Amino acid sequence: MQKTKHIEIRTAIPGPKSVEVHRRVHAATPRAVSVSLPVVDRAEGALVTDIDGNTLIDLTGGVGVQNVGHRNPRVVAALEEQVRRFLHTDFTNIPYESYVQLAERLNKTFPGGGDDICSIFFNSGAEAVENAIKIARAATGRKGIISFEGAFHGRTLMAMTLTSKVHPYKARMGPYAPEVYRVPFPYSYRCDMAEGPDHVCGPRCYSRIERALLTQVAAEDVAAVIVEPVQGEGGFVVPPPDFLPWLRAFTEKHGILLIVDEVQTGFGRTGKFWATEHSGIRPDLLTMAKSIANGVPLSGVMGRREYMDGPGPSQIGGTYVGNPLAAAAANAVLDAFDQDGVLAMGVRQGEQIRARLEELKAQSPYVGEVRGLGPMLAVELVKDRNSKEPHPELTGRAVQRAMERGVLVLTAGIYGNVIRFLQPLTAPADVIDEALDVVVSSVLEG
Ligand SMILES: *Cc1c(COP(=O)(O)O)cnc(C)c1O
Repeated sequence: MQKTKHIEIRTAIPGPKSVEVHRRVHAATPRAVSVSLPVVDRAEGALVTDIDGNTLIDLTGGVGVQNVGHRNPRVVAALEEQVRRFLHTDFTNIPYESYVQLAERLNKTFPGGGDDICSIFFNSGAEAVENAIKIARAATGRKGIISFEGAFHGRTLMAMTLTSKVHPYKARMGPYAPEVYRVPFPYSYRCDMAEGPDHVCGPRCYSRIERALLTQVAAEDVAAVIVEPVQGEGGFVVPPPDFLPWLRAFTEKHGILLIVDEVQTGFGRTGKFWATEHSGIRPDLLTMAKSIANGVPLSGVMGRREYMDGPGPSQIGGTYVGNPLAAAAANAVLDAFDQDGVLAMGVRQGEQIRARLEELKAQSPYVGEVRGLGPMLAVELVKDRNSKEPHPELTGRAVQRAMERGVLVLTAGIYGNVIRFLQPLTAPADVIDEALDVVVSSVLEG
């Protein structure tokens, strides 16, 4: 047995019991269900205990779903209470107060504010994206949608079409939804249009987006541009600070709606409640999911009423949307933000992680870039800093080693060469330190 302050390792990882469950997963489900991490028995805060009795630090947070920590006590209490009252009615059939309370509270958080904001709820991030597009089309009477290279918006037909990463998401899955146009994202580290000594994207890069309106689709046919304020699956790519303001001006000029997809960046992930707040702009529509309800499936679209009222009564919705358990959990998540200082914890955590990753960059020739916004941080690994050739092999080895040593962490990026950190924002500094020791040594071993 090997024990540090929080990590406790009793078997190989994954251990024998986990390996046996993996075998059953492979036998009982199709290969689309691919598993490799140890099988969880229970989770609390940023710690996961597996069925072999190992305790690991979880920097995956259920893929960005556990911003307020596994089994947040407020959420557990709210769910227990809700279970005693009722589980499901279908809100538009027999309504309940927690749904409208959640909408009222979220409406007040809309980036740029306003009293004309309203919200509607769905089940998954992809479903929120699908509905945001339907809302934009109904509101504008236009069909075209512009999305970005490197974008991830989900796996349903429209969401998959908007998504950029071909493998594993799109290959052999066509035909895609029509009327989607793709433009480059200002990924300064790899953009051939980046300018100046700091190699940062600017007007020269953005003008390619403008050019799409000359070469691909007429402005008056475009309903919306959908953008992640920081790309998630694309590798935690942070656009320059003037990008969203530029995009806002561009969309306004052409009567195009701006949809910010905050499914991964929302709920404090970047140190503000919404990542869009860093830019000061007011979008038209915002999609949310992931950390909204601490793991109970829920998503939503929030936006300006003049557009949100595009679809008519019952034109969008679904049986489970805004389910009572999810609404109770989401209200409790908002309580945690209101009362437990989650945002401040995230900001401090971001400084702690960034400092450690910059140190790693100084020590390892394979770290091409450390980037992120607040606690949404990642390292991009390359074979050579000059050629910037991606190093997915080292990325895979480092993540594998970290797992064997008790830290679960995810990769991202179109080349699979980014290690991204989606730790609970509530994780104490000593837990983060212990996890970073493992990740840093796993990268340094080459
Ligand atoms: C995860 C994600 C989605 C899709 O959410 P699902 O709940 O998996 O459907 C959409 N957009 C972004 C930015 C995401 O990170």
